[in-house]
Amino acid sequence: MTTTATPAIDGWFTTGPEPALLGSRCTACTTVYFPPAAGFCRNPACAGEQFERVELSRRGTVWSYTDAQYQPPAPYVPATDPYVPFALAAVELPEGLTVLGQVAEGYGVADLRVGAEVELVVETLCADETGERTIWRWKPVVEMGEEADQ
Ligand SMILES: [Zn+2]
Repeated sequence: MTTTATPAIDGWFTTGPEPALLGSRCTACTTVYFPPAAGFCRNPACAGEQFERVELSRRGTVWSYTDAQYQPPAPYVPATDPYVPFALAAVELPEGLTVLGQVAEGYGVADLRVGAEVELVVETLCADETGERTIWRWKPVVEMGEEADQ
């Protein structure tokens, strides 16, 4: 039996070696939205109704972060039983958006600090009989030479 890995949320991010979040850009005022917008532009000064899909920057800086010590309510799908706490980071992208996401497998709040650079990765969120579900996560970027400077 073969299983396939599919995004937990369709159309919000790309997969592959260099995954990226998919936003939408208003063709009138160029404001970028994530999750992807449709219908009317939310910029009150703009009458735009047309959006184009754009890949968002794969790197951003940590704006805030927290530890999810208690299992979130549904629709959160526990990846493990018993529940294992994970870290959440709000990451500011160069486009001016802040995108919330879990922190990559193997990393926690001790690996994060406000203003630190993180990179988007796609990892397995959970698996069921039809295969794996993937989600984007933020992975701390360790700069070359950072260790040596200390
Ligand atoms: Zn607009």
